[in-house]
Amino acid sequence: MKLKSASFILGILLLGIYSALAFALMRTTDLLEFSSSELSKAAHSISVVQSLKNRMLAHNRNAFLYHIEKDPVHFETLRMQRLEILDYLKAAEQLISNKEESDILHAVQNDIASYLKKRDIVEEKLLTPWEKYVLVSNDLEKAITAIDRLVTVNRSKMDTLSAEIKRQKKEANLLAVILYVLAAISLVIIIIAVFFAVVYPLMEVDSAITNVSAGKSVSRVNPSGVAEIRKIAANFNAMTERLEEKRRDQLRFIASIAHDIRNPLNSISMASEILTQQVQEEDREIAMIVNRQVRNLDRLVGDLLDTTRIEAGQLDLSFTKQNVSQLVKDAVELIRTGSHLHEFKLEFLDQTLMCNCDGGRLLQVLNNLLSNACKYSPNGGTITVRAWKEDANIKVSVADQGIGIAPEDIDSIFKPFHRTKATKDTIPGIGLGLSASRRIVEAHGGSLVVESVPGKGSTFYVTVPQNTFSQQVSNDSPPPVQIQTPSMQL
Ligand code: ADP
Repeated sequence: MKLKSASFILGILLLGIYSALAFALMRTTDLLEFSSSELSKAAHSISVVQSLKNRMLAHNRNAFLYHIEKDPVHFETLRMQRLEILDYLKAAEQLISNKEESDILHAVQNDIASYLKKRDIVEEKLLTPWEKYVLVSNDLEKAITAIDRLVTVNRSKMDTLSAEIKRQKKEANLLAVILYVLAAISLVIIIIAVFFAVVYPLMEVDSAITNVSAGKSVSRVNPSGVAEIRKIAANFNAMTERLEEKRRDQLRFIASIAHDIRNPLNSISMASEILTQQVQEEDREIAMIVNRQVRNLDRLVGDLLDTTRIEAGQLDLSFTKQNVSQLVKDAVELIRTGSHLHEFKLEFLDQTLMCNCDGGRLLQVLNNLLSNACKYSPNGGTITVRAWKEDANIKVSVADQGIGIAPEDIDSIFKPFHRTKATKDTIPGIGLGLSASRRIVEAHGGSLVVESVPGKGSTFYVTVPQNTFSQQVSNDSPPPVQIQTPSMQL
């Protein structure tokens, strides 16, 4: 799905859910507001009706006192109370909210009207206060009973409204919780969806691009996520495919040239070897220089061929039981003859360090490390070679007192064609020996690392397991073992 359509659908879905919930919440709060106003109306109505009742009782009592005492103050109070009673009746009328209340209020109005009328009638009669009191008491009683009914109705209305408000409050709380939970869930879903549809596929593409730009292996990206990112991944894969194809073409070209150079080089090497023996004493030095340079050239071409083989993902190793101490001695002897500037020190704890390995390839690694030790110690110095057994591994170290390697170059010198700034323009080389050596050692299940102090010298450590592939190796006729090496970026 496209990012645009996914966002559109998700947006509509979320909008729908939230609108429905927000509408429900608004409706509940409206109902709550209505119930609350009804509740306060009912409470007000009760208080008005109660006041009406009190005024009625006070009016009756005051009329009685007036009849006894004939005090004009009581008369004035009676007049005021009558007005108040009528005011309260009007106020009660304003607070009526249903038919039942309206009917009862009607009854109250009628009863109060008959009470007041009766009062006017008895006023004109010549009766004792007590007789007058008894004559109106029936109407007063009826009016008070009607008022009490109105109070009761309002009380029960208040009870119903309180229960309703409680229920609506619960409903509003529940809706708020649902809204909150839904918001949290949709947020989590959005985060997860965005992660898997956008972030994770982008991270994959980013890591593949970083690998390529850092010169690591060219990996493929599994196209996933939204359509736009899948398209980027597909384009990236197509681009790396083309890059690899181009690189394979270059390697095939290099390999064919290296192969073609090797044959005449072998002949020249053999001829220069013979020449070294046969020439006159005064020309021997020149013949030896030719021989040395041809050997150097041969080594370079060999490294080039190895690199192309490794790059093709194949390296033929033939495992046999080897005495690593002897291999080290042979390598040192070979290099000693070509270098008079350096002193070589051999340190073995054990003269026999047996190991299942490809002797020729291990010798190639040692030759490379030793010739580098000489090459990158242009002022001479001591080259110390140690070999020892550690746990189930054989270790060999080659230490020189040369120019050393800057910390930022330590990793890159093991990549093909990588040379340090310090040596690029001053010491000849093509930057293939260490990458091939590391691949060879790693194909044995071991490692090749370096420690170095610029200006003081470097120590390279080769570690190979003693019994690598021992189950596949026979002493008499060792079968070649083809190791699949991971392809690397040139
Ligand atoms: P080359 O020697 O042909 O350049 P290598 O792969 O053997 O190729 O070495 C890669 C780089 O590592 C060299 O160019 C050099 O900068 C650095 N290097 C290798 N060995 C040493 C050493 N013993 N001392 C200092 N620098 C070294």
